[in-house]
Amino acid sequence: MATPEFQQTLGKAAGFTGTALHTGEKVTLKVHPAPVDHGIKFSRKDLQDEPTIDAKIENLKTVERATTIGEGTVRVHTVEHVLAALLAMGVDNAIVEMDTNEPPIGDGSAQPYVDLIKRAGVTPQEEPRKFFDVREPMHVEFKTGALLVLLPDDKFRISCTQAGPNNQFTQFLSLELTPSIFEREIAPARTFVFYEDVQPLMDKNLIKGGSLENAIVVRGEAVLSKEPLRFADEFVRHKILDIIGDLALVGRRIRGHVVAIKPGHASNAELARAIAREQTQRSAMSAPRAIPIGDSGLDTGEVMKILPHRYPFLMVDRVIGFEGENKITAIKSITINEPFFQGHFPGHPVMPGVMQVEAMAQVASILLFKLTKTSSRVGYFMSADQVKFRKPVFPGDTIFIHAELTRARGNRMAKTKCYCVVNDAIVSEAELMFTFLDK
Ligand SMILES: [Zn+2]
Repeated sequence: MATPEFQQTLGKAAGFTGTALHTGEKVTLKVHPAPVDHGIKFSRKDLQDEPTIDAKIENLKTVERATTIGEGTVRVHTVEHVLAALLAMGVDNAIVEMDTNEPPIGDGSAQPYVDLIKRAGVTPQEEPRKFFDVREPMHVEFKTGALLVLLPDDKFRISCTQAGPNNQFTQFLSLELTPSIFEREIAPARTFVFYEDVQPLMDKNLIKGGSLENAIVVRGEAVLSKEPLRFADEFVRHKILDIIGDLALVGRRIRGHVVAIKPGHASNAELARAIAREQTQRSAMSAPRAIPIGDSGLDTGEVMKILPHRYPFLMVDRVIGFEGENKITAIKSITINEPFFQGHFPGHPVMPGVMQVEAMAQVASILLFKLTKTSSRVGYFMSADQVKFRKPVFPGDTIFIHAELTRARGNRMAKTKCYCVVNDAIVSEAELMFTFLDK
């Protein structure tokens, strides 16, 4: 077991003004400190109510040329360089505030963000960091030739091979990521583009802020830029920069070795998705399998004081524990005496999926009740998204029902991610949304 590393945030707010790559608009970006377990969130100061977007892979929207995240109709484009700098310089929690939909492109590298973070300072917080430890090799592969392999390692390492058209400019670099190595070897590496790729965009006026001051343009054998190359292998270094930024969307620090061949935003994002999926499954499995008795949970009587549901519609036997304010685990034992087995289906009893959704909604309601700490408002189940039924549930099974609060807007709206687990396997999952109304 490694010594615990602690989460970090910025010492103070700091900002700078520059040009947005795609719109060519002037943009001011400011980074602010944030509390533990907050992660990195973008905030659009130019929009009404200043909406925030979590820098999480669930919010990934597009990966063409740059990485775009969004929630609802709100978007933030080209997030990878600022995210790479925050992660690599050791910042776990921060708000990135902007007055348009894209950070300043700067010189096309992560250097301006490293400078910004150094001006703000980095300060430790009281909670340990959360890691994703690679246990087994994982990989993603694309028809374009992009291949990313993630191997177990006790450090975060990246080995990358970059190759241009016809294997022109083939470059390789392998390093362990630390703040000082990032600052020296990776942060100054600028964006590079192939002339054939950007010409149509220039014609359509889609990269108004683009110039030889913030990108290296490769045309045939020629390398065009205002400033000479900063490294002989600047391209592979920038590819590593983009990998770091895109994988920051995992929301945890990775302990593992990324081996990347011809990576791009699409393949990076796909790997981030695979890691997040694996992490979600692990979290759902991490609850205790033995059922504790005592103060940490709620017995049936206490559950019935919170939930108005009664037989045959009460789908929670007992709450076995809370983890912090945002997580709950409850159980429901399924017996052949459940009324729904009479008709679902005679001779072949299978628990209806909708009853599992109901169980998840009831468990989530208990969590929200504990959270609002008031009985004058009541949570109404509004919608279910991403509902998946993975395995059948039979009489004799005990369902472990997990709910985690993923988003809350004041006392008005809450979103939860829920899982039903039987014998260490996820049998169903859903994202459930609630709204609160006065009783
Ligand atoms: Zn980039």
